[in-house]
Amino acid sequence: MKIICVGRNYAQHIEELNNEKPSEPVLFMKPDSAVLPDKNPLYLPPIAKDFHYEVELVVKINKLGKFIQKEFAHKYYDEIGLGIDVTARDLQSELKAKGLPWEKAKAFHNSAVVSKEFIPKSEFNDLDNLNFSLKKNGELVQKGNTSHMLWKIDELIEYISRFFMLKKGDLIFTGTPAGVGPMSINDEFTGYIEDREMFKVRVK
Ligand code: MG
Repeated sequence: MKIICVGRNYAQHIEELNNEKPSEPVLFMKPDSAVLPDKNPLYLPPIAKDFHYEVELVVKINKLGKFIQKEFAHKYYDEIGLGIDVTARDLQSELKAKGLPWEKAKAFHNSAVVSKEFIPKSEFNDLDNLNFSLKKNGELVQKGNTSHMLWKIDELIEYISRFFMLKKGDLIFTGTPAGVGPMSINDEFTGYIEDREMFKVRVK
């Protein structure tokens, strides 16, 4: 299983980090070892000082495919979950400035919080108008709606599968909306799709 992540997929988040709006999706990967085991606290490794949360809708791929066309992309996923793309922001900024790959800042142990539960997409009226949000210590810090994605799920699958063969069980992190911010020890994060609680995790 691999995790393919999309960067810069929400205009307001691009602005908050002073990034350029990309002409194509920005992609990076996390290994399966990045997934935080269920019910474990989120131990942040001693590799950076400034860790950020980025709540993202997660798509679970259900079969093998490459060069998938947009109009068939919907056949390659049945379920939607929620995750946090945990980011070592200070390290990422360093790597970015040097033009180096981001993996050390994005793919470390526990850098992928993934909801245990995935919701069948048939339960939603419109996947391109889905609300999701993140609370930090009970306070709303991020809220997004998939209608604001620069590239929609099916377009992402088309693009990603040109470069990487998708396999059953692969996860796509579809990008974070505005409102990213720091994680500190003892913070508790709760993620929601619409009103449904998808995960609760404590930072250690
Ligand atoms: Mg992200």
